Amino acid sequence: MPMARCPVCAKSISSEAATCPNCGHPIIIDEVTHHSLSSIYETLSWQKEYLRSISKSMRFFVTVAIFGLIGLVIMSLVLILER
Ligand SMILES: [Zn+2]
Repeated sequence: MPMARCPVCAKSISSEAATCPNCGHPIIIDEVTHHSLSSIYETLSWQKEYLRSISKSMRFFVTVAIFGLIGLVIMSLVLILER
């Protein structure tokens, strides 16, 4: 039985199925190739968006870590100088 991939939920489904059994997305057999291609494009754009959000949060995390380290250094210097 030939297998296809649902363009909406990316589940492996039979290409003979009229609709995706998982999410109910209608599958047109003649457009299975087109659907899998568009699902690849969707996945790629989603991953791009995901990587962008990760790098944004990483930037935030790095900034917080640097400021935390600077604060720790200043606090330890103050504590050392007060002795
Ligand atoms: Zn589906």
